[in-house]
Amino acid sequence: MTRIQIRTSDNNPSPFIKQLVDIECCPRCGINNPHISLRYSPSKPATAHGTGEQSWWAFYSCESCAKPINVKAVQLQKGSPIWDLFVDPKPWTPFASLPCEAKRYMKQARNTLSSPDASLLMSASCVDAMLKHLGLEKGSLYKRIEEAVQEGLITNEMSRWGHLVRLEANSVRHADKGKEPTIEDAEQSFLFSEKLAEILFHIPSLLPEEKNGGTK
Ligand SMILES: [Zn+2]
Repeated sequence: MTRIQIRTSDNNPSPFIKQLVDIECCPRCGINNPHISLRYSPSKPATAHGTGEQSWWAFYSCESCAKPINVKAVQLQKGSPIWDLFVDPKPWTPFASLPCEAKRYMKQARNTLSSPDASLLMSASCVDAMLKHLGLEKGSLYKRIEEAVQEGLITNEMSRWGHLVRLEANSVRHADKGKEPTIEDAEQSFLFSEKLAEILFHIPSLLPEEKNGGTK
């Protein structure tokens, strides 16, 4: 969940403001500077059986994708007009272990899913930047993907994900007639580039550091 702190006025004690601000991108569709509007807020908090703990929840939705976003409010102290708002789902962020350039492309691919042409190009640029970072600098993206298989960085099956991302971007670049990219195409390319990022950078970053020549 993402946490936002807000201060409400004494005249309006509800923690749920009409528009959620300070959210960089929609956690559902990824659009930048989303308009996230309040749809429903209960007049009283839910109370947990047993503990008696009170919990305020409200439902918002993104004006762009119309998908639901839950918000939980926690009052920081009794009588205080200051609340912490927790947004669920958490807005997407790229893997911290990605090289800067790949991270920048991946962010743009995610934030433009509603504009498939732009997103498809960014997903391919992300795959390209990741492979270059791993030392596969010569030639085209096609060659880099093939070399990644030869060097054992990815499997043959994974190279098919990479080639699909590459071909989708090529069809945008060459304005292939009869094929208008859809949001689903962009989501698929984004998914494949993110999975490659996970395998090439994120999972290896979770391994304990090798000491004294290797782990036992
Ligand atoms: Zn949205």
